[in-house]
Amino acid sequence: MKRLKTIVAAAFALLVCSGAASAGGRLKVYTDLSDFSYLAEQIGKDKVSSENFVAPYQNPHFQEPKPSFIMKLSKADVFIEAGLELTKAWLQPIVEQSRNRDIVPGGKRHFYAYPGIDIIDVPDRKLTRFEGDVHPAGNPHYNYDPQAMLRVSVNIKDALAEADPANAAYYSANQAAWAAGYEKALARWRDAMAPWKGAKVVIYHSSLRYFAQRYGLDETGTVEPKPGVTPSGQYLSDLTEKMKAQGCRVILYDPWDAKKFVETLARNTGAVAVDISPAVGSPKTVASIEQRWDYTVGQVLEAFRKAGYGAAGGAAK
Ligand SMILES: [Zn+2]
Repeated sequence: MKRLKTIVAAAFALLVCSGAASAGGRLKVYTDLSDFSYLAEQIGKDKVSSENFVAPYQNPHFQEPKPSFIMKLSKADVFIEAGLELTKAWLQPIVEQSRNRDIVPGGKRHFYAYPGIDIIDVPDRKLTRFEGDVHPAGNPHYNYDPQAMLRVSVNIKDALAEADPANAAYYSANQAAWAAGYEKALARWRDAMAPWKGAKVVIYHSSLRYFAQRYGLDETGTVEPKPGVTPSGQYLSDLTEKMKAQGCRVILYDPWDAKKFVETLARNTGAVAVDISPAVGSPKTVASIEQRWDYTVGQVLEAFRKAGYGAAGGAAK
């Protein structure tokens, strides 16, 4: 009888070990975006190992999945993704092939990072693939809004706590500590951007619309006629005229955007074009979300200065 009890106890211990914390005691968290894996590390610390599938210097809509992703996902304890079809086209098939039922949408270890965030550009009708728009469920780039990352950190904390309730208090305390520091940084960026409300910018992809709207920048247009669609010569020439008419002399782009269109527009309008940091890890010197906005705000302010914008009122003169 005693022997049976020992066997049952050992089997139970095994079951517990093979549950939530299976990566050498750490919860194995996978994400699509590096911003999310960064936050999972800040909140999970020594209880979590996290890894992202989207290379931060590549366009998240279009990536080549590696076969190793399937093996990793098959052993994932938690999967957190941006959702809104940001990475669905190439990542969803990989998630399904992993045969890990818990991490497919609807599974108990699958989480989206956007609940509670105001999603912009939600279409008022169903778009079809033939229209070429890569944002059929609304603008999925809410990680370009510095303020929204606070909510993302809460969502990631909730995901970790749900997957690993024994450490829920630990995750809550770490999230609160991270958020306290981040809120100070948010105030710094808000102060730095405040004089530039109404400053006119062209953005390449509508990813940057979240950033522009957060700080009240005035979007003259996008280099892409629709998200993911290459501009025609006629479209660019119309945009050139619009920039000249409005006095817009700043273009903001993601590092993977087609430089030839940016350069043509800049040459024809006399505009200053700068890249921004699209995610933690791009450029390589950006090692945190705070550094991501320090870099981006720095680039934008430098562009305003070079363009000869006036700070009072922000708009170009
Ligand atoms: Zn997009």
